[in-house]
Amino acid sequence: MAESTIFQKIIDREIPAKIVYEDDRCLAFEDIHPQAPIHLIVIPKRAIASIDDLDEADEPLAGHLLFAMRKIAAELGIVDGYRVVTNCGRSAGQEVMHLHFHMLAGRRFGWPPG
Ligand code: AMP
Repeated sequence: MAESTIFQKIIDREIPAKIVYEDDRCLAFEDIHPQAPIHLIVIPKRAIASIDDLDEADEPLAGHLLFAMRKIAAELGIVDGYRVVTNCGRSAGQEVMHLHFHMLAGRRFGWPPG
């Protein structure tokens, strides 16, 4: 069996994380190297490596993750905008091979991203 990712270990409570939101299908926690005053990682609880590894049956889960992020933003009182990023594949900068969305807020963001 493949070695479990650091995010799987957070799901399994094998390593600690500052969890800010959890429901039956997803988990959100603070990024350990924040790139903004608020920097969360939002993940499905099921081990899916990236967007490329979603299949058609995962469509409700993909939508659930978006709605979870909207809910988290509202719960945290983020009213001045936030950025959602997912890196898909090594060339895009993906380091942890468990699908995740970065949720960033609390400062202005430039465009295009680096
Ligand atoms: P990516 O480069 O898109 O795969 O992003 C991985 C993110 O996970 C990076 O922003 C890391 O800072 C973050 N990260 C890695 N390990 C941990 C951890 N143990 N707890 C929280 N965030 C982590």
